[in-house]
Amino acid sequence: MRTRLPSKQTLGYVGVLAASLALAIVSGWTAVANQFDDAAYDWMFRLQPPATKAPQSMVLGIDDATLSAMGGPPALRSMLATALERLAPVNPKAVAIDVVLADVEDAKEDQRLERAMQGTRNLVLVSHLAEGRWQKPLPGFERYAAGLGHDTADENSRDGVTRQIPLEERTARERYWALALETFRLTRGQRVIVESPQDLAVGSEIIPAARTDQGNRPLRVLFSAEPIPHVSLKDLVDKPEIAAELAGKVVFVGVTSITGAQDRVRTPNDNGRIPGVEVHAQLFETLARGHFLTDASNLAAVGFSVATGVLAGLIFALLAGWPAYLAGGVLVIAATFAPLLAFRQGIVVPYFSSLFSAWLTCAAAASYQHFVVRRQLRKSEADRKRYQQAIHFVTHEMRTPLTAIQGSSELMGRYNLSEDKRKQIADMINQESKRLARMIQTFLDVERLSDGQMELKREQFGARDVVEACVQRVRPLAERKNIGIRIEELDGALQGDRELMEYVVYNLLTNAVKYSNSGTQITVACRLEASQLRLSVRDQGIGMDAKELRQIFQKFYRTKRAEASGEAGTGIGLSIVQQIVQHHGGKMEVSSEPGKGSCFTVVLPAHSRASQPPTVSV
Ligand code: ADP
Repeated sequence: MRTRLPSKQTLGYVGVLAASLALAIVSGWTAVANQFDDAAYDWMFRLQPPATKAPQSMVLGIDDATLSAMGGPPALRSMLATALERLAPVNPKAVAIDVVLADVEDAKEDQRLERAMQGTRNLVLVSHLAEGRWQKPLPGFERYAAGLGHDTADENSRDGVTRQIPLEERTARERYWALALETFRLTRGQRVIVESPQDLAVGSEIIPAARTDQGNRPLRVLFSAEPIPHVSLKDLVDKPEIAAELAGKVVFVGVTSITGAQDRVRTPNDNGRIPGVEVHAQLFETLARGHFLTDASNLAAVGFSVATGVLAGLIFALLAGWPAYLAGGVLVIAATFAPLLAFRQGIVVPYFSSLFSAWLTCAAAASYQHFVVRRQLRKSEADRKRYQQAIHFVTHEMRTPLTAIQGSSELMGRYNLSEDKRKQIADMINQESKRLARMIQTFLDVERLSDGQMELKREQFGARDVVEACVQRVRPLAERKNIGIRIEELDGALQGDRELMEYVVYNLLTNAVKYSNSGTQITVACRLEASQLRLSVRDQGIGMDAKELRQIFQKFYRTKRAEASGEAGTGIGLSIVQQIVQHHGGKMEVSSEPGKGSCFTVVLPAHSRASQPPTVSV
């Protein structure tokens, strides 16, 4: 488990998740997503075909053979009459004729058809909606119909596949139920279909076909993989004994001829097109089976996506490393299979938005956490380094004054010293402890400067003041090694933090002393050149080669040469020097040659009125 995120990060995290979730949900309404959803629907449909049950219906088809044997399309009504006459003896449960019978044709044939209709139980005829008007069967036919139903058998879908059919079609004044629904009602012995906004009831059967924006109550048809059994009318005429197969069945009569039927329909089963009359039979079987596929409501679909997003967010907020990726992977897999499970339960969930929201939120959560964690790691690594350096600095720089104080105080305690000597030592202790205090202050200032917590002081002071003060402090060290310090011209004024600048000069001077042999000379100068102030410390010491020169400002770097001399410290001083100079808007220049000496130059922007004491500066 990780520590809790600070609130700004939590907000950012929630924001990123919410944005990706919104993107996933909104993109679920695009055309691409709809295509994806349709393809996924067809795939699931084929994966889990409706339970096979012996069909209650059959198709009596007027196929190509029938048409050519019985007189072609003009003889359609005589064919229908023949069909009904042949069916009458076997007494089907219901007969639905999927042919528009709105126009007056041959009176004699029509009369024959009327007579055949008269002898047919539960006859359902077509009411066809064309250009906003209902084309109903001729009154002579309608008289014998127990029901009228609309004949829409295909869906105006993007890819031309019919997945659902409207159970209701209406004009402003008249409304008809689907041919198959009317047939179903009659087979259930019901007089009416009871409707509510959410569903339809035929007796005790509830059909979950909610009223939609178009008001046409679409219902997904559970097309069986096996076609509905077909009988060709020609075969029935040729072999009357076939009629027995149709006994007690619900018979859908219609044109199945490939050339004659215009309404051939593609289904999710992807096994070619089927004639419209079979679609009616398939819808009838769907109703008869009583198992339905309903679309998840928009609210449920969005709820599912949001739940996935929240889970993804929690996973990557509470877990880290591989357990988080593992749990995220499980979530994505679960989101992939959830629509399939829902489909098994008869609920169609929009696949694209569920899947996309799982993927997108997981990816967003994972990358957010990845980068935030990386940033935090980098920061804590930097903090750790700084802390380490601070410790090095303290031990390195403070050892000298501490040793002096320690030694002197021991001296005072152990020996009986003269008053003069005692005073001298007490002064020394006082000075060294002041130096220690200054050092601590310098150290803290540089720390805070580089941390951005502190602003640089902006005092103005002469270069001479600083250099002379430092030389005075270094001189005893130099004298001990018999090294001379020569001060050349000291022009110019500096602007900035005097304490820190003193640190710079003192450090360069002590280095010059440390890395020089006895009998050599150190030269200090400060010159104004163009708009630059150049403060240089030159020695005749051990020097450095070009490769070493490139690295001396790195923390902890020490040259081999310096280590061999036994003088090298921790390699921090110059890095602080460089930081201070940079904070003052300047830079360091170094030239050096092994065995010949080095020259360190602090280059700063020049400030006017050289050498004037700060009190009179403006
Ligand atoms: P320290 O002197 O404590 O090691 P610095 O950061 O001041 O740390 O210096 C880094 C290294 O640069 C030294 O260890 C030394 O190798 C080299 N160096 C610094 N000043 C000089 C100099 N004047 N002459 C030769 N080498 C130097």
